[in-house]
Amino acid sequence: MDSIQFLIKISDLLAKPIDAGELADGIKQLLQEVAAVKNLYIYVFDNVTNTMRNCAENWNIIPDDSNAYQAFKDIKGEDFIINSKAYKIPAHVGDISFKIQSLFIPTTKDGQDFGLIEMEFEDGTTVNMEFLSLMKILSSQISLKLQNIVLNEQSKINVDFHDSMKNIAKIIETQYELNYIVPLIGEMLDRFISDHLIYVFLKQDGEFRLVWPKACKDERIYEVLRELTPETEYILTNNDKIGAFPLASEGEITGCIVARSTLDKLSKRDISYLEQLTRQSAITINRANTYSKVLQYATLDALTNLNNRRQFETRLKQEIAITKRQNNPLCAMMIDIDFFKKVNDTYGHASGDEVLRTVASVIKAQLRESDIPARYGGEEFAVLLPYTHIEEAKIVGERLRKAVEETTVQLDDLTINVTISMGLAEFTQDETGEELFERADKALYEAKESGRNRVCISKNV
Ligand code: GH3
Ligand code: MG
Ligand code: MG
Repeated sequence: MDSIQFLIKISDLLAKPIDAGELADGIKQLLQEVAAVKNLYIYVFDNVTNTMRNCAENWNIIPDDSNAYQAFKDIKGEDFIINSKAYKIPAHVGDISFKIQSLFIPTTKDGQDFGLIEMEFEDGTTVNMEFLSLMKILSSQISLKLQNIVLNEQSKINVDFHDSMKNIAKIIETQYELNYIVPLIGEMLDRFISDHLIYVFLKQDGEFRLVWPKACKDERIYEVLRELTPETEYILTNNDKIGAFPLASEGEITGCIVARSTLDKLSKRDISYLEQLTRQSAITINRANTYSKVLQYATLDALTNLNNRRQFETRLKQEIAITKRQNNPLCAMMIDIDFFKKVNDTYGHASGDEVLRTVASVIKAQLRESDIPARYGGEEFAVLLPYTHIEEAKIVGERLRKAVEETTVQLDDLTINVTISMGLAEFTQDETGEELFERADKALYEAKESGRNRVCISKNV
């Protein structure tokens, strides 16, 4: 292939909508038709964090002591680094050939070095001046494409980021359980602040309590937490590797989000994301707190309109007392949606919420007026069936299981199907309501273990 053909093929490649990995692969393949190139790497210098990133490998940061990092410093004002030495290409040279092992060429943006292309050659490869000139043209073509790719990927991250912020805001309209909200916030932060560990603390009785993830062994983080005051915007310590962003409400600290670097200091971009997310999280958490205070007086679950857990426990006590006095039969039903995490992961939490609402309404529709259904926890439902023997409960349960299986949740152009697993137990005179539901829960566990989408019955013990 001659130079012109090579450049035409490169132009064709660059005209396609490709990502950084495809760019590196495509160029390597074309180069192999004109020279014995063994490996090709494309790096971009990130001047926010002062790091070099390998753009074909997930934008991973390369180590400070790598050849490419050194080459980026040495190449300033030069055209190439050939076999570890920097050169400027002379204007007029004869056609000389020479042996080459490695070659670095800078990519540029507005006349500034932007990154590097590194090539490694097979042993004994020789190239001539024409090849070097060709590489110079190649690098200026790649420079433009790379700038586009970087811009695109950055704006995609920004779009994803804002989508997630909106999603979080939407979730909290109907959610008030911090146990559910905080892990969501933690997971989301983790996704956007790469190369950093994220911790979420909530302040309870004057102490910071870690709520996400499960453990934090870094003593320095606790030291930083002690330094926070209600006026603190954020604190950076340990060479900017730890950032603490307090969650505040009405002049009081209610918690803190901490990012700890595994590699580098926090970049300006990370800090800006963390500030926005902390603000959003503080609103979310404060609302959840206020809401749960209001809900102390509520009896219904806001999402499903079934009884809430607290109301359910009250009703359970009453019904057990009646049953004991009158010696009526009574059954307990525990329901858990199968693979619900997958629904959230695939369609988003807002769709998950819609599925919960639908399943709740199917449950309600299948029960009698005297039955007492409740949202027991996240995606678990409990039903109390007064005046019901286990044989009847089994028929109701089986009918309900089938009804859910046959229900399709319609969301815009999405259709979602879910199944439920169920455990049943009949009350025996010498047990408490709690023990009754423990047995139903065990039966539910059996239903899960034996394949899901089924009803299992607790043996009376
Ligand atoms: P299994 O069949 O074993 O029950 O699998 P699963 O995925 O349903 O089990 P798991 O209990 O691990 O997952 C329950 C998920 O339900 C995790 C949690 O994020 C989600 N969840 C809990 N409460 C809510 C809620 O109010 N809304 C939404 N969308 N998801 C919730
Ligand atoms: Mg569950
Ligand atoms: Mg489940």
